[in-house]
Amino acid sequence: PGFNEPKGILFTPEARRNAIAGIATYETLTGVEAYPVRVLTWPVVDGQRVISVVRVGMSRINLYRSATRFLLTMALLFPFALALAGGGGWFFAHRALGPVDRMIAGAREIGANRLHERLPLSGARDELDRLAETINNMLGRLDAAFSEMRQFTADASHELQTPLTILRGEMEVALRSRREPKEYKEVLESALEEVERLSQLVEGLLLLARSDAGVLKMDHAPVELAFLIEEVRRKMAPLAEAKSVNLGLGRIEPAEVQGDYSHLRRLLLNLVDNGIKYNRPGGSVRLSLGVTPEWAVLEVEDTGPGVAEEEKEKIFQRFYRSPEARSGGFGGSGLGLSMVRSIVDAHHGKIELESSPGKGSTFRVHLPAQAVSKD
Ligand code: ADP
Repeated sequence: PGFNEPKGILFTPEARRNAIAGIATYETLTGVEAYPVRVLTWPVVDGQRVISVVRVGMSRINLYRSATRFLLTMALLFPFALALAGGGGWFFAHRALGPVDRMIAGAREIGANRLHERLPLSGARDELDRLAETINNMLGRLDAAFSEMRQFTADASHELQTPLTILRGEMEVALRSRREPKEYKEVLESALEEVERLSQLVEGLLLLARSDAGVLKMDHAPVELAFLIEEVRRKMAPLAEAKSVNLGLGRIEPAEVQGDYSHLRRLLLNLVDNGIKYNRPGGSVRLSLGVTPEWAVLEVEDTGPGVAEEEKEKIFQRFYRSPEARSGGFGGSGLGLSMVRSIVDAHHGKIELESSPGKGSTFRVHLPAQAVSKD
């Protein structure tokens, strides 16, 4: 009631209710045509009364067609887009990673005998250049370490060869003709000296090799340093006397460290041996022992030739001997102080050298103090 229902598209109950109430309705009707129709039902009101209803419909055919076309286009283009993106990605990734491949190939080429070679830098100062630079720096360090090792092997072989050549020469000469027992005795004595030198050298090489490999056998027992000093002094007294060097004691404070007695003994023997060996007749070597809250300080002071400033670091290197030491016929192999340093390091200590050339040297070894008993 209220208005005559027009022909055509039927009112939905809701549109009808709204129209009677004077409210417009937007709706989408299906089943009217092949495509849904969007329909506006607009009541025309005069005062309080609905006098007419205007209905406008519009087929959604275009909208649906556009959507279908869009989907179809997408379906057709998608594989292309995918292929393009994949191909482009591959191309750019390949281009970006090409230098990495070249770097890998370059690094593979560099073997132990070509450590002086370097990876090329592109000059772009990008991450890859920084990576190449880092690898190059590492190669530099490896190269230095390898050269040092090669030098060490060469020096060690040379040092081992010298006493062997002497031994062989002496024995060959001794065997060439019949000799007096006295002569044989002399040859044997000299041979024994060389054998002693060889075994000292091998012992030193072994100690250094073990300490390099981190497998140096170390006791961790309390060591009374005053006792050690006394033992070394007693052992070295005959040598000092033979060289007319006064071997004496300075101030000795009781000090105990945690460590390896035989290594510490070797350390002190080496320092005292050098002090006597490089001294002048009538000179002196003095041993002293002090303590600070942190350290036990062992001192070996001599009146020898001293060590020049530029040699202070070098003399701790393996096989390094000053030209004077080489030509002076003192014996020795240049391993003593490097062993001393290895032993000091193994005890977490430090070693200092104070020296004024012409006057003498003081080697000062600091070892972490264990317990200090003052009595
Ligand atoms: P070596 O004594 O067998 O030559 P070291 O490693 O003990 O080897 O010493 C290395 C070098 O340091 C010696 O050749 C010598 O030139 C120098 N040196 C060591 N101790 C002293 C010292 N007390 N006074 C002067 N020079 C020293």
